Amino acid sequence: MNPMYGGVKGKTPAYIHALINVLYIDGPSRFEGGSLQLAEALKDVIIRAGGEVVGNAPVESIEVAEHKVQRVVTIDGTVHTAQKYIAAIHPSELFRIITPGAFPKAYQNRLKNIPNTYSAFTLFIEFRDETFPYINHTCYYERDYDNIWNLAQYDEASWPAGFMYMTPATAKQGSFASHMIINCIMPYQAVEQWADTRTGRRGVEYETWKAARCEDIICLMEKCYPNFRPALKRVHAASPLTVRDYFHTPNGSLYGYAKDCHNIILTQVPVVTKIPNLLLTGQNVGLHGICGVPLSAITTAEAIVGANKIVNQMQP
Ligand SMILES: Cc1cc2nc3c(=O)[nH]c(=O)nc-3n(C[C@H](O)[C@H](O)[C@H](O)COP(=O)(O)OP(=O)(O)OC[C@H]3O[C@@H](n4cnc5c(N)ncnc54)[C@H](O)[C@@H]3O)c2cc1C
Repeated sequence: MNPMYGGVKGKTPAYIHALINVLYIDGPSRFEGGSLQLAEALKDVIIRAGGEVVGNAPVESIEVAEHKVQRVVTIDGTVHTAQKYIAAIHPSELFRIITPGAFPKAYQNRLKNIPNTYSAFTLFIEFRDETFPYINHTCYYERDYDNIWNLAQYDEASWPAGFMYMTPATAKQGSFASHMIINCIMPYQAVEQWADTRTGRRGVEYETWKAARCEDIICLMEKCYPNFRPALKRVHAASPLTVRDYFHTPNGSLYGYAKDCHNIILTQVPVVTKIPNLLLTGQNVGLHGICGVPLSAITTAEAIVGANKIVNQMQP
């Protein structure tokens, strides 16, 4: 399960290993028909409460004056104002768009110096009809199980060391899978030479390299499933650069800040900031993923409405 939480030998605290594993031991769950439903359901809650969700609107600047956020401006020039603001982005992205000098230098330097978790190369595969069985659990394959804690080390000749793959459930899931996601850990250094490029315009050399990495994964999958290749209808690939450019995380980090058992305090980032009307949330102020991010959301919300106000209302 290591690829699920970016565990690194001698570094990742045992509590992360324990929290992620207990989810699986208690019974893994998946969304029938995709996890977008959760986002849509949350959106409905916000709209019912009188709010609005604005998509496709990158924030270009967060303007701070007199120790307060005064306004947020999106790429199309729209200005948003509020009593309180919550940044659910990586702090390095926050520092990029906020008024320079808004935070003390020491705070920025501390956060900028926290190492981030590694990235991944991901395949999204569409299968031909009724060619590949639906598998009702997440699968892991490693070439060398002794290497499981060192996945961040990159050697193109022997990459991928292994992968995590899953066949997400469709709304009326039958015995065949319609698609598959394969995640292979890949550090940013593998794509660093194309760091200055943007999605869709990275050049022929990159496209050739990317096609070769797809082939590496498909060849390894064929070892697990000899009839894998004929089942493929379409294959889409994403590299650490894709993750970087879509999520605005440094070096395409999958899970944000890398926790360190030798320095637990290093990655403890409070949800409140020196700017009283600006709070933080998301994977960088707590744990990542479906287990961690909702907990950060509750912590941030309780920083506004009061301790235990939300937890006490939750149904067991
Ligand atoms: C390929 C991949 C596979 C993963 N698989 C799993 C998994 O199987 N299980 C699991 O539990 N976790 C998984 N994770 C981790 C999980 O997705 C994250 O921990 C979680 O999404 C983090 O939530 P967040 O709200 O902190 O940040 P994000 O989900 O990254 O949300 C931040 C959002 O802010 C947006 N943003 C950034 N900058 C700006 C800006 N300037 N203006 C406006 N918007 C901006 C980003 O586009 C993004 O949509 C995976 C992550 C990746 C990348």
